[in-house]
Amino acid sequence: MSGINGSEANFLDDFVRPKRLLLRPSVLTILASYRCTAACEHCCFDSNPHITQRLSLAEITTFIREAVNSSDIELVVFSGGECFLLGEDLNQAIGYCRTLGLRTRCVTNAYWAKSAIGGRRRLEKLRADGLNELNISTGDFHQEFVPLDAVINAASCSVKLGLDQTLIVVEVQKNRATTADVLRKHPRIAEFVTLGEDKFKIIESPWISTSLDVAIPQPDAYLLNRQNVHLRGPCGSMFRTLVLTPSRKVGLCCGLTREQIPEMNHSWQENGLETVLDDGGRDFMKIWITVDGPERILAWAASKNSSIDWENKYSHHCQVCLALYADEKVRNTIREHYKERVEDVLMRYCMLVRYAENHSPDSVDSAHSVLRMHSSAEPLSLPSTMVQISTQKGI
Ligand code: SF4
Ligand code: SF4
Repeated sequence: MSGINGSEANFLDDFVRPKRLLLRPSVLTILASYRCTAACEHCCFDSNPHITQRLSLAEITTFIREAVNSSDIELVVFSGGECFLLGEDLNQAIGYCRTLGLRTRCVTNAYWAKSAIGGRRRLEKLRADGLNELNISTGDFHQEFVPLDAVINAASCSVKLGLDQTLIVVEVQKNRATTADVLRKHPRIAEFVTLGEDKFKIIESPWISTSLDVAIPQPDAYLLNRQNVHLRGPCGSMFRTLVLTPSRKVGLCCGLTREQIPEMNHSWQENGLETVLDDGGRDFMKIWITVDGPERILAWAASKNSSIDWENKYSHHCQVCLALYADEKVRNTIREHYKERVEDVLMRYCMLVRYAENHSPDSVDSAHSVLRMHSSAEPLSLPSTMVQISTQKGI
């Protein structure tokens, strides 16, 4: 297979070679280690307490500095694994970000707040070093390892210490006890709900397996099919988030399945980030995912090859993204037909880039909404009109 930038890893040919990456990431995610206090079933990084590989503080700060020099980074997210296991290095890294004028966020399972007093002490130090935002993950799978009380303690400390934003993300699966509603009604949480979503928010997200062969049952409303594909839009993470992994790989999105997609992982050599960004910007698949999102691409591929089984199989866009790359039938169909979509996709990508150049980095979200509006006025009638509607309404 010849790649779009000459690499074996990319599966499209050299028909399209956009000049360079034009959308520049504004978010940097540091996955310093996949080590975690928990070992949740289906964790996207197979995290567990026994993992030892991690980035050093020097590697973390070097990458942050390089990313700031090569891009438009405004926010640095520390995730994992469990980023609180980095101990004092986490404080140092957050302090370093503050000296560069960057905002910071930690994504955590809240294990450190099993005691309210201990949790407050830990978060106070991070707050003093400059931490701006806290994201807490929970749900039925998490609670085998971290009780809901710890999540509530962590959220409560975060709000009371005045962090700019506190977010709880709850796993979704068909049969579950923990829901966003259950949390919103909890007596120690209910008062925060009135603060407004810019301060405190609870959202839900499907809990997926990173293997295409394993399906976690989801409520019908979450399942992708031809009745709802028009409601699915562009991937807002591609080209907007730069990720560094424990094995010094760089990703251009923070997807749950990114580790499983070789084309989305690039080696980081010091001072080589510009090359990674340039190579990413010449990858037509990444551009297509940025413009249309993986769900529409999958539906389009199915319109070309009716043997592709896609309806009511997937709930999360990263799962669909994995199917584009890892399901041989889908991959081969895209490889065979993608040239039909090049002009349409690049035209809309240019619109997105032009919009972003003339507005703040957040404006890419607005531009995405515009693109979505232009291409989702009504449910698509698949398979016959998929390409036609996308082309006519998308430009
Ligand atoms: S808490 Fe998060 S990182 Fe840790 S095992 Fe569970 S899903 Fe994975
Ligand atoms: S949909 Fe694909 S490109 Fe977007 S975040 Fe998920 S894995 Fe990354």
